[in-house]
Amino acid sequence: AIIETGWNLDNSYARLPKSFFTSLNPIPVRSPKLIILNYPLATSLGLDFQALESIDGVAVFAGNRIPEGASPLAQAYAGHQFGHFALLGDGRALLLGEQITPKGERVDIQLKGSGPTPYSRRGDGRAALGPMLREYIISEAMHALGIPTTRSLAVVTTGESVIRETKLPGAILTRVAASHLRVGTFQYVSEWGTVEDLRVLADYTLQRHYPDVADAPNCYLLLLQEVIKRQAELIAKWQLVGFIHGVMNTDNMTLSGETIDYGPCAFMDTYDPATVFSSIDVQGRYAYVNQPNIAAWNLARFAETILPLVHNNQEQAIKMAQDAISDFTDLYHRNWLSGMRAKLGIMNEEIEDEALIEGLLSMMQKYRADYTNTFRTLTFDRLEDSVLSGTPEFGQWHEQWQARLGRQQESKTSSHQLMRNSNPALIPRNHQVEAALEAAVKQEDYSVMEQLLDVLSNPYAHSPEQADYCTLPELSSQPYRTFCGT
Ligand code: AMP
Ligand code: MG
Ligand code: MG
Repeated sequence: AIIETGWNLDNSYARLPKSFFTSLNPIPVRSPKLIILNYPLATSLGLDFQALESIDGVAVFAGNRIPEGASPLAQAYAGHQFGHFALLGDGRALLLGEQITPKGERVDIQLKGSGPTPYSRRGDGRAALGPMLREYIISEAMHALGIPTTRSLAVVTTGESVIRETKLPGAILTRVAASHLRVGTFQYVSEWGTVEDLRVLADYTLQRHYPDVADAPNCYLLLLQEVIKRQAELIAKWQLVGFIHGVMNTDNMTLSGETIDYGPCAFMDTYDPATVFSSIDVQGRYAYVNQPNIAAWNLARFAETILPLVHNNQEQAIKMAQDAISDFTDLYHRNWLSGMRAKLGIMNEEIEDEALIEGLLSMMQKYRADYTNTFRTLTFDRLEDSVLSGTPEFGQWHEQWQARLGRQQESKTSSHQLMRNSNPALIPRNHQVEAALEAAVKQEDYSVMEQLLDVLSNPYAHSPEQADYCTLPELSSQPYRTFCGT
């Protein structure tokens, strides 16, 4: 019997001006094998996972079969990479189309690692298994943490090798996103397109992500303001869990407000604002502490692109855009502060809260405390487990905190509940992710990864199984380093 897979694809992007993309099919691969499939995500997309696991189903994830209704294309975009402007585009990815979900939502289905495109430059258009599984693990962990992100539907191996420093097994990730519209998409059209093209792109973005303001007379200024608002919320969420993106280039910042492009990203263990993981970020441009400033810089690049739409008078347009950009810092800070209050169980606002929070963070930095575990020990009142407890500063800080909690109406129980819901039991720690990838790539043993994904899928459960994963990495003389472009 034929099983219906459930692909229900539309291609609104393919109906945009031809200069925005290049239509082409994925390059078939030798012998596709399904490594992992995201069942809950498949179901929410209206897909039948049994059908997806069939030979024909897997062939779609490999780019060997084009599903009905797909109109594959590589998107053109530009971007500032470490501050330098370049023409980019999907160099190893293809948009198959937009799945219309049973709830009527429209999400991009993209193959990553599907072969070269006109935008590949010197790249081979392919991806290796390790980095694609890493994106799967971290993006799904981010989703479970409640952070807007692209999702991962499946990873297949291709049966072909990719050549990096060594030969590695090739793989393709199927990525699901609200869209792949980026700041860099606007930069591309602004640089090489007409103002009419720009208006088409802005209208499309409004329809797709901000339909409530799409018909307003000043909709393009509102678009800028809404994107700024979503990014302020997103970056605050990153900071609150200690997530470091690693390559916050303008092509890696979405207009939907989702986290995108899990290259050299990682989560911070020891609290240190200067933390950088990416091996190529020698200047520390994308260090933890710099993420909000870089976001504002990227948003300013976005604002520049839509100036001609914001106002006919250029001076007026610049003024309006600058006002919008200058709101980012305050919006970000308010999101961060309310998130930090929640992490400490604080439910109302006092001016001194920020000093209390900064007091904790500076102790954490001074005594090299683990970021996630510190908040966990505070949540569960297991202070003996924290390196902070024996320090001269901690007693007084703890007294101040307790006194602060005493000055709110809410019960101890509700304050504790808020802390539980705001402080994850665990994050995808680098050493655990590495162990899962090592077993998967070297031994073809996917059980370590599956167990890790399982405990990461509900980070606020604080279940006994999760306790095993709270162990810290052994102290290493070498700082953790991530690599991108693999
Ligand atoms: P990223 O640093 O991941 O944002 O990627 C920057 C650009 O490089 C994008 O245009 C990617 O599509 C492209 N790219 C990355 N890896 C490859 C590859 N192996 N082959 C072709 N293009 C690539
Ligand atoms: Mg990218
Ligand atoms: Mg990348």
